[in-house]
Amino acid sequence: MALPSHIVIVGGGVFGLSTALALTKRHPESQITVVDRGPIPDPAKWPVDNSRIVRADYANVAYSKLATIAIERWRNTDWGRNGRYTQNGLLLMYPDDGTSTKEYARKSYDNVKPVGRDNVEFLPSKADILRAFPTADSDRLDVAGGYVNWGAGLSDVTASLRFVKEQLDREGKVVFHTGYANRVLYDSPDDRPGSKPRATGVALYGGLSIHADLVILATGSKTWTGLVSLRDGTVLTSRATAFMRVSDEEQRELENLPTIHNIHTGICVLPPRDNCLKIARCTYIYRHETPVNASEEDFTFPGNVVPILATDAFRTVLKQLLPQFADRSFSSLNVSRRAESPKADFTVSYHPAYEGLFLAIGCSEHVSKFFPVIGDKVVDALEGSLELELRDLWAWTGGPVPVSNGEDGEDRF
Ligand SMILES: Cc1cc2nc3c(=O)[nH]c(=O)nc-3n(C[C@H](O)[C@H](O)[C@H](O)COP(=O)(O)OP(=O)(O)OC[C@H]3O[C@@H](n4cnc5c(N)ncnc54)[C@H](O)[C@@H]3O)c2cc1C
Repeated sequence: MALPSHIVIVGGGVFGLSTALALTKRHPESQITVVDRGPIPDPAKWPVDNSRIVRADYANVAYSKLATIAIERWRNTDWGRNGRYTQNGLLLMYPDDGTSTKEYARKSYDNVKPVGRDNVEFLPSKADILRAFPTADSDRLDVAGGYVNWGAGLSDVTASLRFVKEQLDREGKVVFHTGYANRVLYDSPDDRPGSKPRATGVALYGGLSIHADLVILATGSKTWTGLVSLRDGTVLTSRATAFMRVSDEEQRELENLPTIHNIHTGICVLPPRDNCLKIARCTYIYRHETPVNASEEDFTFPGNVVPILATDAFRTVLKQLLPQFADRSFSSLNVSRRAESPKADFTVSYHPAYEGLFLAIGCSEHVSKFFPVIGDKVVDALEGSLELELRDLWAWTGGPVPVSNGEDGEDRF
């Protein structure tokens, strides 16, 4: 299917660049502009936090299948070269009383086992977990079982953004523009029944406008701040990630350990990269009740509740898994506020209320692993050829949707 000749993508993150790359290959005749408020990649955005978990371990088989395609590209093409992908494995574990988390692990195991074959090993007891993660403190470890997938890995998100940006610069088919889009431009609907306003471009702070026949918003978790109303389609949350410096010797000792994900607490421990150990709570830890279209200034925490909750939880995890680090200071603690999709699903869909406006929005903190493949899926959706299961999963919700509490091993990492 032909696409319009002038396309503007707002956002040069994972979604935006992957989409730009796929468009240059499949619609080389289109003129594509990518607008981002900062440099791509922005060194201020991810100064240390580059590691992203790459896994096909999803309880939802549609994500599992898509991740399998992405992993094949991370492993066997230029995407994964020069340290952009390393394969260290992923260990999912659940505690004694975690019936729903055990169920999640079972579904996820069933989905990856046929793909991972010998790389996936069920660990039915605490003793088995200790075999796969020998640094853990056997007395303190609160775990009943899990499984390890040695075929999962880590990607470097900043290096991957740089890799794609350089490729697009070399090919010269995409124009990059630095600027903050503050408004989508529309023309008025005509008199025909059912006629909708048509997106005609974006206005940037400073007065410049970029005109296009198709506007793609790939603006990530801050989309709620104004370009389009996500209404009840997102929840506002806070997440925390902590970092700890480790010595060269500690790095060598730990770097080949699998990433750990405790499905019950939602906390992940990532083996160190560049002498930095990372601990993150992959389910959100605080849900805000602020209306979605509130300004960012309204979006405040009650006291220091998030950092305190997070550091307490991280220390408990370290005591169990890496006791030698339990009392070491964190070198930094990032608390980020964001809009998240209530069920961790992306929105990849035309906006129902406007012509020529398309949403390619993750809002769910698990997009990075799909970098090599997500742009192809966006272009499939633009062309109307996206497979049915993904079309249903990523449809525009627009209105109230059931919010899960994010604590049952949901797909948010
Ligand atoms: C702490 C953390 C840990 C994560 N861990 C994992 C993981 O382990 N595995 C995994 O797969 N994923 C992970 N993710 C998720 C992944 O990194 C994000 O989902 C992904 O980067 C989102 O990509 P995006 O393109 O949707 O948004 P972004 O990367 O946020 O890109 C959006 C871009 O749009 C630009 N922009 C926004 N608004 C405007 C505007 N109005 N005008 C101009 N430009 C604008 C921004 O500058 C930005 O460059 C993690 C994310 C975080 C924050």
